[in-house]
Amino acid sequence: MYEGAVQELIDELGRLPGVGPKSAQRIAFHILEADPEDMKRLATSITTVKERVQFCEICGNVTEEATCSICRDTRRDPSVICVVEESKDVIAVERTRSFKGRYHVLGGSINPIAGIGPEQLRIRELMTRLSDEQIQEIIIATDPNLEGEATATYLGRLLQSIGVTVSRLASGLPVGGDLEYADEVTLGRAFEGRRSVSS
Ligand code: ZN
Repeated sequence: MYEGAVQELIDELGRLPGVGPKSAQRIAFHILEADPEDMKRLATSITTVKERVQFCEICGNVTEEATCSICRDTRRDPSVICVVEESKDVIAVERTRSFKGRYHVLGGSINPIAGIGPEQLRIRELMTRLSDEQIQEIIIATDPNLEGEATATYLGRLLQSIGVTVSRLASGLPVGGDLEYADEVTLGRAFEGRRSVSS
């Protein structure tokens, strides 16, 4: 245990995802030894992001306005929605340039062990969009892992009764991974080869 502020910083850093006690200590000492101006910028960007950034009222993507730039873009196809887990997946799909519709960000995936069920995700908001907007196809692009598959199966069943075409990305994505780790070509192909889940 270090004294006061140093230990507090280590504890805070250790709460971040993927940062273990050793990394927390290493980052804390990096901060201590770094240029004060650089660290002030880091602190400011954390404060700014918490003050300015919010979630899009329509799709749940991160934005600095009430709605995100994709939802505001009238050139995007309003009849297709790609359902993803996180905002970072929107970035991954956008990189492929093979999707021209809009998104719906769930805010995670179904994970009973972590206590995350359908109610914790933005599924109700998706259903509202389906009743309000002219949507013909839903492409489920959850991560190719256990939780992502569980979420896709759940959504597939839920959406079947509504009369929209529901499709799932084609296989070929690295199994067990994260959508963002797939390269653009692979992800682009998975989009083009998407298969209907309604049968
Ligand atoms: Zn949006």
